[in-house]
Amino acid sequence: TVVSVEHALAGRIPAGGEVTVRGWVRTRRDSKAGLSFVNVSDGSCFAPIQVVAPATLPNYESEVLHLTTGCSVVATGTLVPSQGKGQSFEIQATKIEVLGWVEDPLTYPMQPKQHSLEYLREFAHLRPRTNLFGAVTRIRHCLAQAVHRFFHERGFYWISTPIITTSDAEGAGQMFRVSTLDLANLPRTRDGEVDFSRDFFGKETFLTVSGQLNVEAYCLALSKVYTFGPTFRAENSNTTRHLAEFWMIEPEIAFADLDDDAALAEDFLKYLFRAVLEERADDMAFIAERVQKDAITRLENFLNSPFERIDYSEAIRLLQGSGKKFDFPVEWGLDLQTEHERWLTEEHVGRPVVVMNYPEHIKAFYMRLNDDGRTVAAMDVLAPGIGEIIGGSQREERLDVLDARMAQFGLDPQQYAWYRDLRRYGTVPHAGFGLGFERLVVYVCGLSNIRDAIAYPRAPGNADF
Ligand code: ATP
Ligand code: MG
Ligand code: MG
Ligand code: MG
Repeated sequence: TVVSVEHALAGRIPAGGEVTVRGWVRTRRDSKAGLSFVNVSDGSCFAPIQVVAPATLPNYESEVLHLTTGCSVVATGTLVPSQGKGQSFEIQATKIEVLGWVEDPLTYPMQPKQHSLEYLREFAHLRPRTNLFGAVTRIRHCLAQAVHRFFHERGFYWISTPIITTSDAEGAGQMFRVSTLDLANLPRTRDGEVDFSRDFFGKETFLTVSGQLNVEAYCLALSKVYTFGPTFRAENSNTTRHLAEFWMIEPEIAFADLDDDAALAEDFLKYLFRAVLEERADDMAFIAERVQKDAITRLENFLNSPFERIDYSEAIRLLQGSGKKFDFPVEWGLDLQTEHERWLTEEHVGRPVVVMNYPEHIKAFYMRLNDDGRTVAAMDVLAPGIGEIIGGSQREERLDVLDARMAQFGLDPQQYAWYRDLRRYGTVPHAGFGLGFERLVVYVCGLSNIRDAIAYPRAPGNADF
């Protein structure tokens, strides 16, 4: 019976006791007693399984003794409780078939040692074979599953929002333009210049920077919705928390205000952390050992305490009184920079924190104007090690105020006619937020660079594979 390494290690012994596992060699150790221990991983769980290969195997000398890290094998034998420490079950092999050898083992890029993350970034196609990227990949998967489960359990519906759009959605970031592929027949202007304004069948289009405006329309009919999909921003800077292509989760709830929004964000994050702690204990133990010592305890602590909420104005006072020298100025009316966010969450609170009610002119036009006329009902959730992981707000549901805000931001009401309709026909208070999925992975895994939180990072100079 073919079984995964995960099931074999869990001791799921089939009738007859014979199992076959398929995977890649991690390490091989030969004992003087005339047998070899071959650790085989198939990625199904953190640990590899030990395959004990006796010298009596017909290909022992010709093949088994030549196995190196990365070779692919099919091993059959009896699954038995292991004597070795830290091992649950092992396979006493009766047959080992080699499917693929590693060409020139000495230059195999994924040697069985600890490589630097910079080095591994050069090998986006091979790094999933390492312990770290195996763990991050399984944790990321666990988080994605928990995202859908959380919303499903609470009666939210999942909406796909468009990737190609004419809207710049608030100008949240620099956009990538969608261009035609028919290079031989590029649309031209009369002067022979390439006419990019006709990229999408006669319209200029971009890759989406956020699905929010589209998801609002569904919220104002289905009450609780979310979108979870790829997002693109032409961030032409090399930071450790920005990607040009990232995934965003954007829930939107009707009949809700900013407090409801913050409560949803809190429940959501706690649900996700609990899922990782319960379902990926093996990978989190490795993260705690290798990447971030308190990776597990800080998630546990976070589960046991309510979110700290701080008003933006209060955050400014705290930063000004911190006695800390920042590179960027701290002043009411200026946006918080990463260094400010990190001070608030890491040094002031020591846990994730929600900052609320930002000055209206530094936030998007659709955020609801507070009664003071100077701030909007916006919130950012900041997490240690990365800063902002969630940006959200209550949306402006009053048509007259929305129109005034659009005029203030120089936006064309014509282009937002459909968005205005949502306020013209049965408007209700509503709110939502965007969680950057890779930033969540960075936080949970204690990573220091967002390029390690996604399989194929897209960033300046990084689009080949
Ligand atoms: P930042 O201030 O870090 O540039 P933002 O305020 O521009 O982020 P929002 O428009 O509020 O980001 O988007 C919502 C969420 O999407 C952010 O809280 C963050 O988690 C994530 N996010 C934004 N830009 C990026 C990016 N370039 N790469 C990865 N995640 C991002
Ligand atoms: Mg930004
Ligand atoms: Mg921001
Ligand atoms: Mg933001």
